[in-house]
Amino acid sequence: MGALSVGAPTLPGMSYADLHELRSALTTASDIAFSLDASPSGQETEQLTDALRRALAAAGALTAEHGATGCAQHPRGAVDPLYGDADDPLPPGYGRCLLCNDRRRRASAQRRGWR
Ligand SMILES: [Zn+2]
Repeated sequence: MGALSVGAPTLPGMSYADLHELRSALTTASDIAFSLDASPSGQETEQLTDALRRALAAAGALTAEHGATGCAQHPRGAVDPLYGDADDPLPPGYGRCLLCNDRRRRASAQRRGWR
């Protein structure tokens, strides 16, 4: 008896607190969502929005933990400053990773005959 493990193993480079927060916020949101009827009260929708916002914040913290690029090769590399720029959008197929985008830019420049 008493062998119940309370603390979960922490994975290297991963924030367990954020993961726990994400799961608990999602569980709360899902509980609320499934208990809503066709015409939820303002308070109920507010609670739901609040839980989803917590989940989003926790997911964002996890992303920051793993690097912002979302790139498997350069998880801690720089994010392309043009990513998400509405005035100067990146070509299709480009991601958030600046290093990968630079490589794509060089490759497409070579295809156009620039040496
Ligand atoms: Zn990359």
